Amino acid sequence: MDQLLLKNVALEGYQEPQSILVEDGRIRSITAQPPQVGPDARVLDGKGRLAVPGLINFHTHLDKAGLAEVIPNRSGTIGEARSVLFAYKKTMQKEDVKRRAREAIRRSIQAGVVAIRTHVDIDPSIGLRGMEAILELKEELKDVITLQVVAFPQEGITESPGTYQLMEDALRLGADVVGGHLSIAADFEEHAARVFDLAEHFGKEVDIHVDYDIDRDYTKKSIRADGLAYPDALGIMAMCEEKMKRNFSANVTASHLCGLDSVDPECAKQIIALIRRAGVGVVALAPNNMFCNGRGDLCNTRRGVTKAKALMEAGVPVFFGPDNLRDPFNPLGCEDMVVNALLTAYACHFATREDYEALLRMCTCDAAARMGLKDYGLKEGCRADITLLDAPDFQQVLCRAAKPTALIRGGSILFQNDAATQWQAKAEALLAPAEGC
Ligand SMILES: [Zn+2]
Repeated sequence: MDQLLLKNVALEGYQEPQSILVEDGRIRSITAQPPQVGPDARVLDGKGRLAVPGLINFHTHLDKAGLAEVIPNRSGTIGEARSVLFAYKKTMQKEDVKRRAREAIRRSIQAGVVAIRTHVDIDPSIGLRGMEAILELKEELKDVITLQVVAFPQEGITESPGTYQLMEDALRLGADVVGGHLSIAADFEEHAARVFDLAEHFGKEVDIHVDYDIDRDYTKKSIRADGLAYPDALGIMAMCEEKMKRNFSANVTASHLCGLDSVDPECAKQIIALIRRAGVGVVALAPNNMFCNGRGDLCNTRRGVTKAKALMEAGVPVFFGPDNLRDPFNPLGCEDMVVNALLTAYACHFATREDYEALLRMCTCDAAARMGLKDYGLKEGCRADITLLDAPDFQQVLCRAAKPTALIRGGSILFQNDAATQWQAKAEALLAPAEGC
């Protein structure tokens, strides 16, 4: 039997340090006293650091990762990002996608990430090259990372003729989730209907980029199915109504939803109530939104991020992610989920220990449940996917921007990084004790 003892780790919900015994890749026990192990057991001393279930990046774009230097976005606007990417995609080859995505995955693993939901562009300019590249990586790298692949119509569906058929092909090839791009759709109802048609036909869930913009006219309103008036410029109602109309039971996720923070507060409440009724989840993508949105503001520059806290308080499942990774949409986007949690906390005005605990769940257990990952969590019997973070609790992790010092996946130690700081004697004498942050 293969044994790994992870001793002396801090765990959320426990006062004292604990020991996690892993046998044949699964968590056998969590105890205050280290259990007896065999002579061949591997032992890892956590030194009081926080052990969390393997981190999850719930929204990113591996096919575009690392393109910021190749096709820079000099204005920083979403418009320039879309146009430089569109021009580049015509020549983008499978090997190029694989090389850049592999690098992003390597950085993700170093950041303690065990699973990624990645949206992959599908349209006539790139065809299925990006999808084939990411699906090949999904298989090649399955022992070190779990990829969940979304077929994403970046250029629209009817707006880019031929895309619907390519999405069907992508789903036949093995894409896991049907994506959508209501943010640029000319007809919200038609776009939502086509996405749900595909999802029903292939038995998949839905994750749609919706209402990215914050500069539309939100004052024009029309009465919708529930008899209430909503802004014509938002697409979120169309996806909520489509889900309810069809009694669609699989997960439906709205990514971005920045426009929710641009409508008047009463209207926002009404939209949040609709999202709750429909059972739709929302992904806040603060790093990308803060990079691109509000570029035209001459003062009081807006964050352009969705109302994460109001959604959470209403009982809507909320998640977060980096979105783009060093590409024209965000040249600073990074795979480190602690950095992304920190940016989300600032952008969305998270303030309490409960808020920070919620952030940790969003990039661990909540995301895992949404992705349908089996046997996930720090509980006896679960698969031993464990990230060790260099601080004793998650609030300290955030305020120190703490790095992972080890990642365990299915009982294998994928990496370990435990270099101790060597203080010069005089500096140590002056600075000790160095508590807190
Ligand atoms: Zn995205």
